[in-house]
Amino acid sequence: MFCYHCQEAKKNKACDTTGICGKKAPIASLQDLLVYLLKGLSFYVIKAHKIEMKTTRIDSFTAESLYATVTNVNFDSTEFVRLISETVQRRNLLSKQLTIPADEIIPEEALWQYDNIDEVVFIEKGNILGVPSLLEKDEVYHGLRESLVYGVKGLASLIEHSSVLGYKNQDLYDFIHQALNFSISFHSIDEALAMNLRCGKLGLQAMELLNQANTETFGHPVPTKVHTDVWNKPAILISGHDLQDIEELLEQTVGTEVDVYTHGEALVAHAYPKFKQFFNLVGNYGGAWQDQKNQFAKFNGALIVTTNSLQQAKKTYKEKLFTTGMVGWDEIPHIDDRKPHQAKDFTALIEQAKQNPPPTLLTDATIITTGYGLQSLLELKATIANAIQAGTIKRIIVIAGCDGRHKERRYYTELVESLPKDWLILTAGETKYRFNQLELGEINGIPRLLDAGQGNDFYVIIGFLQSLQEALGLADLNAMPVSFNIAWYEQQTIIMFLALLELGVKNVRLGPTLPPFFNADILTMLADKFSLKGTDTVETDIEAMLEGN
Ligand code: SF4
Repeated sequence: MFCYHCQEAKKNKACDTTGICGKKAPIASLQDLLVYLLKGLSFYVIKAHKIEMKTTRIDSFTAESLYATVTNVNFDSTEFVRLISETVQRRNLLSKQLTIPADEIIPEEALWQYDNIDEVVFIEKGNILGVPSLLEKDEVYHGLRESLVYGVKGLASLIEHSSVLGYKNQDLYDFIHQALNFSISFHSIDEALAMNLRCGKLGLQAMELLNQANTETFGHPVPTKVHTDVWNKPAILISGHDLQDIEELLEQTVGTEVDVYTHGEALVAHAYPKFKQFFNLVGNYGGAWQDQKNQFAKFNGALIVTTNSLQQAKKTYKEKLFTTGMVGWDEIPHIDDRKPHQAKDFTALIEQAKQNPPPTLLTDATIITTGYGLQSLLELKATIANAIQAGTIKRIIVIAGCDGRHKERRYYTELVESLPKDWLILTAGETKYRFNQLELGEINGIPRLLDAGQGNDFYVIIGFLQSLQEALGLADLNAMPVSFNIAWYEQQTIIMFLALLELGVKNVRLGPTLPPFFNADILTMLADKFSLKGTDTVETDIEAMLEGN
């Protein structure tokens, strides 16, 4: 096993036995084989597109499959065996519909066949396809190829979130195939960097599409104070990004005397107008994904993880845990996808909740404010622009991304505590749980901390800053008094920093560690071209940002 997909790779090198995330070697091998075969499928899709053959079902299958390999999404070997066999079957069917010149060299990714659907055989094959085999080909180029594939996984997850609501963009699917096909063969460093930047651009477009899907379906988020205390009824805790799941769960729990609480990325649901009609959506429980073992145990009630961030369940709550969507773990009951024109059936989850006592209060109850969507931020634009021109707001810092287990992530709390009081903070994603319960005050009546919502709402922050830049008459984002500090963890946050590089933003900080798949040569190149850097001490970073670095 060799995996360095995410920020928690062992010793910032690679997980080589069991993953820190709980991924076991056989699952890592199955994921490696699946991605390998998806590359081969995309090889044929590119040819199909050249003769204007549509591949709609393959497109969504590819996105679903990549999404399943994102960190903390799926740990169920049965699911990966299904996806691997389906990839080969779809590839064989498609290749038969195409005319391939007899002398064309077909890559091995597009040729591998199995005799029988056999998990053991698949694992053996996956074992020899992982990162070490790819590293042998070219170590420098390799890092950019891997970041492209990881970025595409993040892109696939965004595509899946919006497609649940019926919003799709063919350009995004096309890019996934182009990137997978690109990753089969060797290219120059410049070409690989260009593909990474394109991935960032398309990633931001995918976030924009998801924002459109969410706001047109559930309304524009409004700043909302969310309670973190508990009530006296049995309850369900829902974790993840999927707003459609939250809506259907709320509809099905009305009148059951079961309350619903949000966890992790689901927090922002409270800010969408559509959800305000549900009085049984009573609050937020707990914080970021890495604390779920402790928090899920204390919740007492039924639990559901909808899109990602699943950890191996403790015995204390395993019986009460459900998954849905692309999330899965062997032995954890899975709520099936919705059938056409029907809602998912959450009956089993609701019945489980009824058998349990109400949640235990975690800490002293506080209030968290979220819901600074694009419309709400734009309403503040003139005030913020005036405050910048008057010097009342000296700088805006964007601290966006994921949270995680590393104790170094304490940096984000200390950073926010130490920032000058005339700095405004924009955030999105779970990293906010490091500081969203601090008393940070206001500037000219505007809260110093503005939470746009989920990681994908990073688009909202960029859209707002670009509009603010225009209002201030400045040439680009680099001319703004803005600093970006991305707390990366998994593949959606890779999209964030690729998007910033594509926008030409300089001095982006990545923390708490730099990606292990970039070797020293690539990091030097990114530092030279984009002034990309890691985080340092809080004092050093604030001093550098004060000087615009
Ligand atoms: Fe390790 Fe991250 Fe890979 Fe999990 S996803 S095995 S934690 S590098």
